[in-house]
Amino acid sequence: MYMRYFSRLMSAMAGPRPVVFSGPSGAGKSTLLKKLMKEYDSVFGFSVSHTTRKPRPGEQDGKDYHYVTREEMQTGIANGEFIESAVFSGNMYGTSKAAVQDVQAKNLICILDIDMQGVKNIKTTDLNPIYISIQPPSMDVLEKRLRDRKTESEESLQRRLNAAKVDMEISKEPGMFDATVINDDLEEAYQQLKQALLEEINVVKKVNMSS
Ligand code: ADP
Ligand code: 5GP
Repeated sequence: MYMRYFSRLMSAMAGPRPVVFSGPSGAGKSTLLKKLMKEYDSVFGFSVSHTTRKPRPGEQDGKDYHYVTREEMQTGIANGEFIESAVFSGNMYGTSKAAVQDVQAKNLICILDIDMQGVKNIKTTDLNPIYISIQPPSMDVLEKRLRDRKTESEESLQRRLNAAKVDMEISKEPGMFDATVINDDLEEAYQQLKQALLEEINVVKKVNMSS
């Protein structure tokens, strides 16, 4: 009884539950979460990951990612600075403890955009997020979106499509995600996403209004 009360108190003190977004590269995670953060800028904050991949045109260091060398990333991991890390499509990616703490210190819902290995690793931590899967309507649509985005070489595109096949299978495993949004029509997907997060959004709004 006391332990249950204590653990509830501890999680309330830790602030709102983070939200993990996962799904194949090109499914529309960034598009949807940018929309969400624009509409609710005083509710959500983005956990800025580290990566060894090169910035795409328009991406900003410290905003989209912290762009680092492989050596810097490996040193950070060895020093215990990361909650999780993974190699995706030949590059390293990872969520630092500082990235999540920066957002939680502002009492915002921390959004993590991570791959399936990250999801599995986060499940072994005490972060206790809400897990949302963003899926494309089909592999063909996914390929078209990735090609039209014009950010990948043919090799990177093929690697991402291969990872997507594995990702789409694992996402179907029961209990892996709390909600799945099929991103076909963008506006419809966005409404579904908001619906899935409504309870948490309202909690944060209420707390922020009364403080
Ligand atoms: P991810 O972050 O999952 O890799 P992006 O958000 O970069 O995916 O989306 C991949 C591409 O598809 C982008 O060029 C984006 O503008 C486009 N896109 C995203 N959602 C939709 C949608 N519902 N309909 C059509 N195009 C979309
Ligand atoms: P992109 O190169 O398209 O930005 O990201 C490629 C993949 O890496 C996406 O599936 C994205 O969710 C994932 N990713 C981004 N940051 C992290 C991270 O910190 N950890 C993990 N595990 N995956 C990440």
